[in-house]
Amino acid sequence: MATSPSAIGVVGAGTMGNGIAQVCAVAGLAVTMLDVDEAALKRGMDTITRNLDRMVAKEKLTTAGRDAALARITTGLDYATLRSTDMVIEAATENLDLKLKILRQVGACVGEDAVIATNTSSISITQLGAVLDAPERFIGIHFFNPVPVMSLLEVIRGVETSDGTHATTMAFAKTVGKSPITVRNSPGFVVNRILCPMINEAIFVLQEGLASAEDVDAGMRLGCNHPIGPLALADMIGLDTLLSIMLVLHDEFCDPKYRPAPLLKEMVAAGRLGRKTRQGFYSYT
Ligand code: NAD
Repeated sequence: MATSPSAIGVVGAGTMGNGIAQVCAVAGLAVTMLDVDEAALKRGMDTITRNLDRMVAKEKLTTAGRDAALARITTGLDYATLRSTDMVIEAATENLDLKLKILRQVGACVGEDAVIATNTSSISITQLGAVLDAPERFIGIHFFNPVPVMSLLEVIRGVETSDGTHATTMAFAKTVGKSPITVRNSPGFVVNRILCPMINEAIFVLQEGLASAEDVDAGMRLGCNHPIGPLALADMIGLDTLLSIMLVLHDEFCDPKYRPAPLLKEMVAAGRLGRKTRQGFYSYT
């Protein structure tokens, strides 16, 4: 059995990055969380603190456990601090060029045994790994939102990912209490390949005026037993992230069935990105 890494670097302190940092710290791992934006780091730490306080209130964590978890997280802007980590998970904005740039920087900092991973929702693991000197140490570790709540980890093997890197990642999944599925690299992997076109279709339905947002969501909750409606879920994922995923599916498969709904593009252009901007298909004031 491979050993789980003990010191984790997380690049990006946004919706996913701070969630990943939280679950790693609660599981006893040392965490270094990086961002380019000092304010994003502060927001990320505030979110983690609030979530841990809630766990204490629900008696899922002791006060000492919360303090210890917070003490395991250090934040910073400098990639050099990743040197002491043995796994780095990139969780920055969903953009190919940005991720390639970040991965080159990470590859230049970490030791030669470290696993480098990405939390990308849709970008090719094989393509991202190809910028590294050692693509065999690269893998997709796709957490789901909200990270502390969702139990799935989609583990994605690129063409060059080694068995050792996969085994270390499976051991990591166990350490952080997640249930992994292993999938082969392909646009959108497995879950988003199925989920995002469904949400996109819900946006077409709304755009065509067939039903209100509330009724679209109620239909899918009450008629299909989904715990949350597709439009509310879109707001939770972030409409910019959802649009990026649809564009990747559309570009990679060259199939018009993946075209993003014009209303989705309009919402993103207007800066209505969902919960993170307090306005999406619903208001969060
Ligand atoms: P987000 O917009 O909430 O956060 C992205 C963070 O990355 C921001 O804080 C930004 O400042 C930071 N960033 C940008 N450039 C950076 C750089 N060069 N170095 C370090 N940090 C940088 O985005 P998110 O929703 O957390 O998504 C992050 C990744 O996780 C994306 O690849 C996304 O596709 C993936 N993902 C998102 C979800 C979801 O539901 N939101 C689910 C699974 C995976």
